[in-house]
Amino acid sequence: NAGGNVKVVVRVRGFLPREIAKDKECIIKMDPLSQATTLLVPTDLDSKSRKVLEEKRFIFDNSFWSHNPEDSHYAEQEDIYNALGEEFLDHNFEGYHTCIFAYGQTGSGKSYTMMGNQEKPGIIPRTCEDLFQRIESNTSPHISYTVRVSYFEVYNEHVRDLLATPNRSQASHPNYLKIREHPVDGPYVKDLTESAVKNYQELLRCMRRGDASRTTASTKMNDTSSRSHAVFTIMLKQIHHDMQTDSTTERMARIRLVDLAGSERAKSTEATGQRLREGSNINKSLTTLGRVIAALATHPSVRAKSRKDVVPYRDSILTWLLKDSLGGNSKTAMIACISPTDYEETLSTLRYADQAKHIRTRAVVNQDSTS
Ligand code: ADP
Ligand code: MG
Repeated sequence: NAGGNVKVVVRVRGFLPREIAKDKECIIKMDPLSQATTLLVPTDLDSKSRKVLEEKRFIFDNSFWSHNPEDSHYAEQEDIYNALGEEFLDHNFEGYHTCIFAYGQTGSGKSYTMMGNQEKPGIIPRTCEDLFQRIESNTSPHISYTVRVSYFEVYNEHVRDLLATPNRSQASHPNYLKIREHPVDGPYVKDLTESAVKNYQELLRCMRRGDASRTTASTKMNDTSSRSHAVFTIMLKQIHHDMQTDSTTERMARIRLVDLAGSERAKSTEATGQRLREGSNINKSLTTLGRVIAALATHPSVRAKSRKDVVPYRDSILTWLLKDSLGGNSKTAMIACISPTDYEETLSTLRYADQAKHIRTRAVVNQDSTS
């Protein structure tokens, strides 16, 4: 048993053009030695507001400074992968399930960190590339690998398959998938497309297709990407054949990479009509995630059995599907993405992240032997 705490890191991005235009100041400080992140009180507030706010300091597993590239501690996409992604892929090859999720307000850098772009690929494409590099460097004829991938989003408390081949019925109303529960493996999405991929190029193609499907939807409905949770999953199966005993050992690892909806969606909005309905449902998955994290973080001594009654996994689609990743058989990391200019939202994200540090999961090697 390899129980361990959820690994929590924070990353601050650079100024966006609109922040430069408004002459915003950076209210984040990071100390590379202690991995501390400090939130400063903005100086451009009136004295009354300044008085009620205070400087806040938090310690994380890593505090990644991605604010200004000229700083000697600047963290590039590659640095994030080397500090987190690589270690998690090691665990996958040992047979552990892992989950890395990005949390933060819209525009804080979640998608940049997880997916990135062609020039600056994020954790997902780097994991895919490293995965196949490792598989292809294997020279033993007694070890073989299979890789499958799925990609879905939770939008408005519905699950949408991002790898499904589009057909006519889907064009008018997307077919939402149902959730089922497996007695051993737990909750899963029924009929979700799982594509077998043979190499990095094929995996990349699936990733891009899913991303495109996400983007298409976001231009039709108003900006789903800030309202939806995207879950990219890679299933790695390793088969070891022992010639001496003629036995076969299978190791199964699930790599889950999650880009959450904007954390500001957890709050009530003044929107009306369709937007309100979407907002209140997004609200549900995110607020439930908050409650799940709070429950897991404040009951570290409660045993797994009785915990089930306390932790409200079933209250939203997202938390139900991520049950294992949050409080069960998984090694899990949270990347808290923050803006350098927003005191309220950043404080809320840092508090959330601080709480997540207390969660312990119970990861086991997923191995089956037959002879
Ligand atoms: P989110 O997914 O949290 O809404 P994005 O990842 O889309 O936010 O980031 C918002 C904008 O900031 C994008 O234009 C993105 O390219 C840019 N950005 C975010 N993080 C970084 C970073 N570390 N370095 C450079 N640009 C970044
Ligand atoms: Mg995004």
